[in-house]
Amino acid sequence: MKTRNVIIIGGGISAHTAAVYTARADLSPLVLSGRGLDQLSQTSDVENYPGFPEGILGPDLISNAKKQAQKFGAEYIGDDVTGFKKVSGGYKLTTAKETYLGKTVIISSGASARKLGIPGEDTFFGRGVSTCATCDAPFFKDKKVVIVGGGDSAMEETMALYKFASEIHLVHRRDSFRASKIMQKRVLESKDKITIHYETETLEVLGDKFVSGVKIKDAAGESTLDCDGMFLAIGHIPNTAFLKGAVKLDNQGYIAVDGVKTSLPGVYAAGDVMDPHYRQAITSAGTGCMSALEAEKYLELLE
Ligand code: NAP
Repeated sequence: MKTRNVIIIGGGISAHTAAVYTARADLSPLVLSGRGLDQLSQTSDVENYPGFPEGILGPDLISNAKKQAQKFGAEYIGDDVTGFKKVSGGYKLTTAKETYLGKTVIISSGASARKLGIPGEDTFFGRGVSTCATCDAPFFKDKKVVIVGGGDSAMEETMALYKFASEIHLVHRRDSFRASKIMQKRVLESKDKITIHYETETLEVLGDKFVSGVKIKDAAGESTLDCDGMFLAIGHIPNTAFLKGAVKLDNQGYIAVDGVKTSLPGVYAAGDVMDPHYRQAITSAGTGCMSALEAEKYLELLE
């Protein structure tokens, strides 16, 4: 079993930030960055990450952060962690190929936006289909959009798009929203541009190169909403399955934290796997940095 001071699980901006900090502190971190793509690598322009007045492409931000960590000596392995166990001297992490012992572990495994699983959704992802209005709303200036969902995120996304879009169709599967009253109120009071479709199923995303419409079904039957974009706001799923109950989760399934400290000594959580609320690149980077500083302090105490 290979022993490391710090093992970072994840390949998003929180993981790379933790890697920059721990590598620069001479802790030779190992980053088990997984096989899948992080959320920023799936977006286009990032216009709200400070330091880039012209914006930066999400994939560029990620590859730059990774290069920066590697420059200081972080080692990356693109395998998924499938097992996590507390053992003497630290934590045993298993991948399909190898077993590692981490004296400290930073969990930055992210969260995946829940998808509908309908035809066209994956084909047009990044070409009109989005899971982040905060990121993408400005690209829909004077355009028509469909938003799917009925929780606080759907209300928030609707209001983010309200500033830009010419026409918004909010599609919800039930006859009432689950969002908080205050969030609903904002949407319901902005009805000039917003049409609400209750008890409506989303069946298919239509288009050629980009989204051109969304097929829906309500009591009257099937119809098509012509639009330029579809935003999914049907919740996120934190990526914690590999932990198999070893770390305490909160009641929404995110890693429970005190700051960035988890229920296990020497184990920290950063980014979307512990943050159901802000979910921004900059806040993820922030908690990645905090985790790295905590891991460094913990290792000093161990010695
Ligand atoms: P959420 O509260 O779980 O709501 C998800 C919505 O998507 C629900 O309306 C649900 O419908 C719908 N949905 C789920 N799966 C679906 C499917 N397969 N097809 C169609 N619709 C589907 O998720 P969220 O809105 O992302 O919020 C998550 C947490 O973050 C909540 O605790 C929320 O309060 C919080 N949050 C807070 C703020 C804020 O305060 N500013 C902003 C965003 C999020 P049903 O209602 O029928 O189940």
